[in-house]
Amino acid sequence: MTFNITILGSNSAIPTLKRNPTSQLINHNERLLLVDCAEGTQLQLRKFRIKMQRIHHIFISHLHGDHFFGLIGLISSMHLLGRIKELHIYGPPELKEILDLQLSVSQTELNYPLKFHPLEQEKKAVIYEDEKLSIETLPLNHRIPTCGFLFREKPGKRKIIRQKIKDLNIPAEKILEIKNGADFIDEEGNLHKNDSISTPPGESRTYAYCSDTSYFEPLIPMIKNVDLLYHEATFLHDKAEVAAEKFHATAKEAATIAKKANVKRLLIGHFSNRYDNPELLLDEAKEVFPSSELAMDGVTIEV
Ligand SMILES: [Zn+2]
Ligand SMILES: [Zn+2]
Repeated sequence: MTFNITILGSNSAIPTLKRNPTSQLINHNERLLLVDCAEGTQLQLRKFRIKMQRIHHIFISHLHGDHFFGLIGLISSMHLLGRIKELHIYGPPELKEILDLQLSVSQTELNYPLKFHPLEQEKKAVIYEDEKLSIETLPLNHRIPTCGFLFREKPGKRKIIRQKIKDLNIPAEKILEIKNGADFIDEEGNLHKNDSISTPPGESRTYAYCSDTSYFEPLIPMIKNVDLLYHEATFLHDKAEVAAEKFHATAKEAATIAKKANVKRLLIGHFSNRYDNPELLLDEAKEVFPSSELAMDGVTIEV
């Protein structure tokens, strides 16, 4: 099953020709979810050949411009391009007021339903669920209320052993029950235990997105053992004081969180404009946590 992340923006506050501010596209089982939507995100979608109308869910971590200034533009383009399918937006309650004002002053009546889901940023809660995925908020420590998002795959069904269907003459209507864990009684009345006719589902994967935050240890138990952690790394550690003042983190701090949470892989992003070469940040992260990667614009990472 597909589960990957495409980075649409890796910079902090200001867009540059090389790096856009924060936005990511998550593809889970061909369902596309947009996380944060900085200015220019719709252009990034075009550049990386992602069809915007396939996005039905958008999650906004907080109301700093470098995480949502592209939202009204994207909403508007979806409308102008004839969208009729509903769009769900999850974000701070004030975001609804902003969008309502932007739409009303331009006298725009959207062709499609826009469903807004207000988030309580201070609290960990499940905010989205479908049959294959759940999404929880992760409270972060930033200058204004901010949350990250934890994407957790649901355990799949057991896999039936094909040969057993033939050998035991298992009828089609029993297959789903067996996939759900039921035993099977054949025509002669013999009981076949579930684990003799099916194999366990694959591992459920997890992705934690921690947008803007200072070094914040309460996050550790919430992201323990995740497969992939995205953690901001705005500065090198020689700027640790500046980072703390601005409620941002350094590459070393991101790596320390990754190490303490025992995650499998770390992805760092939200780089300050002062770094022309983010490899410096990667080197610093790798000293503490070797399985670190850069979240550069246009890169797709498998979870
Ligand atoms: Zn930011
Ligand atoms: Zn911010």
